Formats: sequence, structure tokens, C-alpha cells
Amino acid sequence: MKLFDVYPLINIEPTTGKACNVYDESGKCYLDLYGGHAVISIGHSHPHYIETISKQLSRLGFYSNSVIISLQNELASKLGELSGYPDYELFLSNSGAEANENALKLASFHTGRKKVLSFKGAFHGRTAGAVAITDNASIVAPINPTSHVTFVALEDSATLQAALATGEYAAAIIESIQGVNGIDTPSPEFLREIEAACIKTGTVFIVDEVQAGYGRSGKFFAHQYAGVKPDLITTAKGMGNGFPVAGLLINPKFKAKYGMLGTTFGGNHLACAAAIAVLDVIKNENLVENAAEVGSYLIAKLKEIPEVKQVKGVGLIIGIDMGYPVNDIRTRLIMEQSVFTGSSNNKNILRLLPPLCLSKKDADLFLDRFKKVLAS
Ligand code: PLP
Repeated sequence: MKLFDVYPLINIEPTTGKACNVYDESGKCYLDLYGGHAVISIGHSHPHYIETISKQLSRLGFYSNSVIISLQNELASKLGELSGYPDYELFLSNSGAEANENALKLASFHTGRKKVLSFKGAFHGRTAGAVAITDNASIVAPINPTSHVTFVALEDSATLQAALATGEYAAAIIESIQGVNGIDTPSPEFLREIEAACIKTGTVFIVDEVQAGYGRSGKFFAHQYAGVKPDLITTAKGMGNGFPVAGLLINPKFKAKYGMLGTTFGGNHLACAAAIAVLDVIKNENLVENAAEVGSYLIAKLKEIPEVKQVKGVGLIIGIDMGYPVNDIRTRLIMEQSVFTGSSNNKNILRLLPPLCLSKKDADLFLDRFKKVLAS
């Protein structure tokens, strides 16, 4: 059987990893400034992560959500503490799209409404509901579009207010930082306006932290820069450092009912062990603070490079805007300088999403190699 060919591949196979590096079979080392789409939070092959998952696997790998799984409670309590949402409740699933699907369903159950307000440039995933609120026609199949969804431009307060004032919207959903679109950040004022309009109109305020969350921005959640408190928060990517696990953080005003949400694999023993290990490492190694510090350093240094038009983002979610397509730079970084970076929907943006343990030395190494590519 052949693989269904949907991914354009870089002709490299990483087979081992350590912290911010991955290695191919010949032992060649690559600096990872992309974290496999923002997934690697605590670094590749962290010893505590390996030990925790291995121990759990030797005890019990899986049992369904019909029995007590205390690891879920441990995860919820640690996540509540570290994220600053100790009073919220947690529903576990397996991917970012699924977390968003569940957020939309919960908002709709809660309000009895069916419309959703999303934003231009949004990416929320590829499952039916998530792709319907994603602003990218090329990944929306004929079965997906729905008249329930309205897209509003970022910062367009008037349209936002007018739409929500109809009282027809179950939810407004926004990424704290639009990663896939090219690291576009809604202003703190706009996030506060959405929050206020949601409160006024009984609309559920959802923030998608799947890419920007889990410490990547230099705060646990990027929306915390704006001082807003969403009703629902979705998280995935960095949560399991590669083990598929996702979370929906739920304000206690939502009342749970048996059967309202559900999943076979979500919250399984291995996923919980992985996610607990990630939170322990984030806490013990101060990785949120490290993302803030090394991110500021890297952003400042990037801004000094004359060829760079603009640097977007905060912490370790960074978009380097060159003012022209970066495809060639990205290819040369990987092929000539052994550095993984990412692209985005904006062809002029080089996207950096490194592990949160990135050191200043790693950042300097990247800057040195990036400058070499720009100079030749
Ligand atoms: N939301 C955001 C902001 C994302 O960046 C992504 C993936 O890139 C998703 C949702 C979908 O996550 P997943 O691919 O795990 O379904």
C-alpha cells in the first residue's frame, strides 16, 4: 500500500532528537526552529518525558472513559495551576481541531444558538466544524461551508458589534495569535472588545490557543497579554510534546451533562502521562519565562538585520517578514545550514516555532546561519 500523497516533503528523515536538535540516520544534526509545527514544547526526547511515558506504558496504556482515570485529575489540577485557570474544568481530546469542535458544540448547547463568528485569516483545523470556521477556501470541501458562519476582519469592531448584537451567535472564536496566517496578532483592545460584546450579548467567547498557547508566547496563554478571560480555551500542540492530546478549558458556568461530549481516546493514560510530564518540565525548567526571555532576545536581534522588513510575534512564536517570498531562504536554511523553519499562508513570512527550551546560544546559532543565507 502506498501513502495518500497530501504532504509536500522535505527530503530529510529525522530519526533521533535531543532538546532543540534533530539528527538523521547518518548522525547529521539539524537545529529545530520549527518544533514540528509548534508541537515540541519541552524539547525533543526530554528524559523526564521518556521516563514518565515509559513507566505508564509498563503499568497500563489504555482504558476507556468509563472508569476512574486519576491521571486526568492530576493533569487538570496541574494545568489549572500553571495556566492561571484553577477554577476552570477540563475536557480532553486528541487534536486541535477536535478541541475546537467540542468548544463550538458546548457553546451551541449552552446558548441554544447556531451561528459562529470567526475572523478573516483564521485557522482552526480540518474537521467539519473547525474547517467551516477556517478562512481558507482551498481546504474547505463542498460538504463543509455553512451559512451559520460569519467572517469578520481583525480590528473591525463595527461589524463585530453589529453581528453579535443580533443575539443569534452561539460563539465568537479567535486565535490569540494567527499562526498559520503568518503570525498576526489581534490588538489587546480588540480582544477586550470581543470579550465585552460577548458578555453583553450572551455569546460564548472562545480563544483558540492551539498554536500560541502552552507558554509559547512568553505567557502561558497569549490572550493573557490582553487581560481577557475567555469562556472557553482550546489547546493542543505543545500540550503533549508530540503525544496527541488536546484540551478544552471550560468556565465553571457551563454545566456538564452525561453524554454531552465524549471521545474514545481522549484523556487516555499515555496521553495524560505525557501531558503531566510536559507541565512538570515547563514548571521546573521555567520554560514560559525562557520563551519570553529568549524570544525577546531573538526578536531584537532579528530586527537589527537590515534585510528583514518586519518581525512579528512575541516569545517563541515569531514571523520574519522579508517583504518577498521566503521559500528559497527556507529551503537554503534547511539544505545548506541544517536549520528547520516554517512557512505560512503569507508567502513573505518565515515562521519560527522552536521548542520552548531554546537557549540564547541556539538563537545565536540560528541568527548566524540565517545571516549566512541572506549574504550569499
Ligand atoms: N487551531 C490552530 C490555531 C492551529 O494552528 C491548528 C493547527 O495548526 C489547529 C487549530 C488544528 O490542530 P490539529 O492539526 O491538531 O487538529
